Amino acid sequence: MGRLTERLSAEHERFLTDLFPGDECTLSEACRAVHGVDSSRLSGDVLAVVRPRTEEQVAEVLRFAEAERIAVMPRARGTGTVGGCVPAVPGIVISLLGMNRILDLDPDDFVAEVEPGVITGDLQREAAKLHMLYPPDPASSGFSTVGGNVATCAGGLRAVKYGVTRDYLLGLDAVLPGGRVLRLGGRSHKDVVGLDLKRLFCGSQGKLGVATRLVMKLVPKPEATASVLAGFSGMRSALEGAASLFRAGILPAACEFMDRATLSAIRQSDDLPLPAETGAALLLQVDGSERAVKAETERMRQALDDSGPLSLLEGRGEDEAALWDVRRKISPASFNLRPDKMGEDIAVPRGRVPDAVEACHRIGDRFSLPIMCFGHLGDGNIHVNIMYNATWPEEAEAALAAKVEVFRLALSLGGTISGEHGTGLTKKDFVPEQLGEFERAVMQDVKAVFDPSGIMNPGKGW
Ligand SMILES: Cc1cc2nc3c(=O)[nH]c(=O)nc-3n(C[C@H](O)[C@H](O)[C@H](O)COP(=O)(O)OP(=O)(O)OC[C@H]3O[C@@H](n4cnc5c(N)ncnc54)[C@H](O)[C@@H]3O)c2cc1C
Repeated sequence: MGRLTERLSAEHERFLTDLFPGDECTLSEACRAVHGVDSSRLSGDVLAVVRPRTEEQVAEVLRFAEAERIAVMPRARGTGTVGGCVPAVPGIVISLLGMNRILDLDPDDFVAEVEPGVITGDLQREAAKLHMLYPPDPASSGFSTVGGNVATCAGGLRAVKYGVTRDYLLGLDAVLPGGRVLRLGGRSHKDVVGLDLKRLFCGSQGKLGVATRLVMKLVPKPEATASVLAGFSGMRSALEGAASLFRAGILPAACEFMDRATLSAIRQSDDLPLPAETGAALLLQVDGSERAVKAETERMRQALDDSGPLSLLEGRGEDEAALWDVRRKISPASFNLRPDKMGEDIAVPRGRVPDAVEACHRIGDRFSLPIMCFGHLGDGNIHVNIMYNATWPEEAEAALAAKVEVFRLALSLGGTISGEHGTGLTKKDFVPEQLGEFERAVMQDVKAVFDPSGIMNPGKGW
């Protein structure tokens, strides 16, 4: 792997504007700057932005980029929180938002074929019209894309019952550096011929190639859903309540929790349908046939009752939205505590969640920083928001030290530094704490098979 080209010559620019006519190629400073950031708020140096509409254009630009040794970064909606699509070295951003067609939705095969730039929520809505469900449901589903979700292996609210994006990927076409096209998998729900290379793309953070077509598995849409918002005096009783559900054999479609700091952040700007003395809350959903949901909700109430909830609110169908509003308010409300946050997404074995949450609170106390814990309890995936003021050097330093302790805590409990957001730029320095040298070397060897020149999204990952 030689050095990568860091500037575009006039000839390079001419090639790109010929291949991507009109506004499909942008060299303007303002547009390049916009495409150099994502939700992590990190920024990088973009040489050009191209918006292919066809796989052929993707192949051509990757053939050119490999020949000229220019880095490329696939990019969708930029909702990633770890700088996954932010250039670590100067490069060409390939925006996939122009490839946004749902190619097929098949109620017999239960598959969707889509281009990568389709918004996940649009796929969910179109599938629902045909009584099918696309289960992966990141909280960003209204604005992130299926391609971005595949490249990050996005999780979400329904993962506890339905699994993550990886579990729904049946087939994938991807263009590799040099313009080679890989066609993997297909519409069959089962396939054990050859190595399962398509799954390597899931969570690969755009480091292997550019996905241009995805075949996703669908399931029948459940007839009904019901949700319960339960308030508890403290974290231990809330987590005990959740454990009693699983012990009773109930598998909720969603199982979220919120700690005291999270609830108090929301209360600073919004009303909460929970008693003032609530110290932790669970938000649960069950789905299935009308009869099954009715019976499951009743069983859920009984199981939770043993842990002495302070309040139990139930909603069905349209009434559920008000309960889930509480969950949606968390992100904006976090800034009631401090103007900046380090939003981490550790995951630990499910039985260690109570220990992890209590230890995070102790870390917050020690560094005198508000730390909010909430998230996907059913998967052991805890969102740890370390709130701080970046303009106060002491707080900024403390927040960084707290983040390191949170990562080490997750690892000490047998968990991971990232359950769903990936490592991108913000966590890349901590990857060696989780993955051994040999394991990383094997991963780098695998990457070199797909990307021998190292032009795909360099400078992050493992
Ligand atoms: C409010 C909010 C809530 C969120 N909630 C969740 C959540 O519940 N669960 C969760 O997992 N994440 C969540 N996220 C994180 C983020 O939405 C996901 O990581 C999402 O999958 C990113 O999709 P995107 O379309 O924005 O991709 P981008 O951010 O544009 O890109 C993400 C990565 O994918 C690569 N990539 C994109 N398209 C392709 C392609 N076609 N081929 C190859 N590589 C590609 C990029 O290079 C980059 O590394 C949340 C983010 C926000 C802001």
